[in-house]
Amino acid sequence: MKYSGERITDTGPPHYEQFLPPIIQRNYGRWKYHEVIKPGIMVHVSESGEKLYTVRASSPRLLSIEKVRALASLADKYSFGYLRFTARHNVEFLVTEEVNIQPLVDDLEALGHPIGGMGSTISNIIHNQGWLHCHSSATDASGLTKSLMDELIDYFLEEKLPSKLRMAVACCINMCGTAHCCDIAVIGIHTRPPRVQHETLHKRCEVPTLIATCPTMAIRPAIVDGKPSVEVIEEKCMYCGGCYTVCPAMPVKDAEHDGLSIWVGGKVSNARSKPTFSKLVIPYLPNNPPRWPEVTSAVKHIVEVWAEHAKPFERIGEWIDRIGWPKFFRLTGIPFRREMIDDYKHADLTYRHSAYLTF
Ligand code: SF4
Repeated sequence: MKYSGERITDTGPPHYEQFLPPIIQRNYGRWKYHEVIKPGIMVHVSESGEKLYTVRASSPRLLSIEKVRALASLADKYSFGYLRFTARHNVEFLVTEEVNIQPLVDDLEALGHPIGGMGSTISNIIHNQGWLHCHSSATDASGLTKSLMDELIDYFLEEKLPSKLRMAVACCINMCGTAHCCDIAVIGIHTRPPRVQHETLHKRCEVPTLIATCPTMAIRPAIVDGKPSVEVIEEKCMYCGGCYTVCPAMPVKDAEHDGLSIWVGGKVSNARSKPTFSKLVIPYLPNNPPRWPEVTSAVKHIVEVWAEHAKPFERIGEWIDRIGWPKFFRLTGIPFRREMIDDYKHADLTYRHSAYLTF
């Protein structure tokens, strides 16, 4: 339905059409073609002959008010006040005058934002909150993402990869960072069940709600020292930290044993093949801030092996579909471990494939 200015409700977001730049409103549905002129700069050409240039820069995702104001000022200066953030938090300026492109690029680079991430490149790495904000995080997210991007920045700036590369970092297995459907995902993992603080649990938490929180039914009621509490059936616990979300007397973080896992071969798009979950390829690497050298070198190695062996336009999952998982493990030298078997053999039985929830 076309947006009508009179249709005002008090729920939901406003219709997107009112935020489109005038050139897009004029040419909506009438774009003849688009092409990437160079990494980070694209042109759309309309049937009417109008041209719209997109300049894409990376963003650190967590932006200060000052940085948002600086970006908005650039939009005022070069693109009539219009900018957009992509699904992976690149910031894009929609420019109608070709002469404005280079001054905008210069100003963005002076602000510390590299230009790139289009075509066969790595796009901005999406991530969730990590230690900055999340209570159940097993690792940091923004610091780890910065360390990864420092290693991979050449692949953002230039089209040196067979196809596009979409990466994500999630600081625990609840995966706010959409890590389950990425070419490469790094996911923080807890490896121990929560520690129940019996002496305070009855004052801080509601036991029935706490029990209902656990997705694997690993929590059951218990009376400890005459007070209501819970116990955790450790064989059923998958260390998700969901219980800690509703009950601070169930801490799950463990500085010594928390670690990171690496997942490969997923994608969200419908292009050529259906959307696919990423699969576990490295079940545990140490959580080693501030630069996570084990994780960054493992990810870079996977990227380089894929870049060397894939055919043009093959995403990581498509490359693995063609060569098979055994060859992927042989080429990368990553050992296949028994902890990964469920993801390869029984996952179809246990994954939720539908948006409907059943208990
Ligand atoms: Fe259940 Fe997750 Fe808590 Fe384990 S960590 S007891 S699986 S909610």
